[in-house]
Amino acid sequence: MTTTKTHNAAMLRALSDAQTIVIKVGSALVRGADNAVNMPWFNAIADDLRALQAQGKRIAIVSSGGVALGRETLGIDFTTPPSQIPLALKQAASAVGQYHMYNAYHRALAAHDIPTAQVLLTLSETENRRMYLNARATLDALMSQNIIPIINENDSISTEEIRFGDNDRLAVRTAQMIDADCVILLSTIDGLYDSNPHEDANAKHIPLVETITADHEAMAGDAIPGLSTGGMKSKIQAAINAATCGIAMIITDGQERSPLRALQSGEKKATLFKAQTSKKGARKNWISAHLKPMGEILIDDGAAKALHAGRSLLPIGVLNVSGTFERGDIVTIHDKSGHKLATGISAYTSAQAKMMAGKRASDFTEELGITGRDELVHRNDMVLVQTND
Ligand code: GLU
Repeated sequence: MTTTKTHNAAMLRALSDAQTIVIKVGSALVRGADNAVNMPWFNAIADDLRALQAQGKRIAIVSSGGVALGRETLGIDFTTPPSQIPLALKQAASAVGQYHMYNAYHRALAAHDIPTAQVLLTLSETENRRMYLNARATLDALMSQNIIPIINENDSISTEEIRFGDNDRLAVRTAQMIDADCVILLSTIDGLYDSNPHEDANAKHIPLVETITADHEAMAGDAIPGLSTGGMKSKIQAAINAATCGIAMIITDGQERSPLRALQSGEKKATLFKAQTSKKGARKNWISAHLKPMGEILIDDGAAKALHAGRSLLPIGVLNVSGTFERGDIVTIHDKSGHKLATGISAYTSAQAKMMAGKRASDFTEELGITGRDELVHRNDMVLVQTND
């Protein structure tokens, strides 16, 4: 009992601490018994999402179900696992079903006056730094106005080579992109077991994974034939990716009505994979170690002060820009005597940055016709040299 309480406490803490949450919905949840949209489930999850928003949380949904909801129209048998459906047929099914799925979220959330937006991603948006910044800015703009993005892979145009393949992976990628604290995978299984619970009556549920080990990976089987793509193996892989980036992951059964409310009540069976590092730490490593700086930005005293106070770099504080870089490239930021203050991701090209130097946002929009964000380097994309965290 004490252990259960401890586990529940860790779960509740992960949920209450999370400011931004990505909720991944599995195909089996969106499809009802009649193979059509499971509208009662959508209506119930909309209640849950409204409650989370009322707690001040930013939410993005990554939902599967495009292919599942398009199967019938395309004459694809429901027992055929997604991996065995020919690609063209799968893509056609997704083009049919994606509309129905998005529309269900839209209707259910509109009843609570919560707007939604459909966002379809391919792997290239998240691999290419410029596209990554674009996708992130779009998602940020939506969530800052409490619009819930309903994200899926752009299945009808992704080819095998450029596919995410499974939405567990896409959910973690999205979480990294929008700086989320927690990913909740709503599945048909209530978490990780030490053996397959469908085959072993003595399979033991594991509520809390402090550190993911090879043992946990061995416990996960492949996807069960049917609608799901990933299975537990892909969930563990996703959990590793999340944990090493400072993001917690929760796996729970989402089939019941209002699974998120049940999770927050502390009563629901689930597995929590704890984050292995602080988010800041992971981001800092990525920014300062993984990419080669392409340019240098020299800033004035006012801007240096703003940076130390944790604020973004605005063009007005820029004295000089050197190097040639693209939007999304890494640059170093220096004070006017040349000391390196920070490393960050530039939101503009070097050519634009040179023209914008010393100007206010309103000026560079009007005079130069440059539109975009106000910051040259956003504080979320910047690591100060002096910080130890
Ligand atoms: N993107 C696929 C769909 O909408 C689902 C992939 C997955 O189940 O992980 O059907």
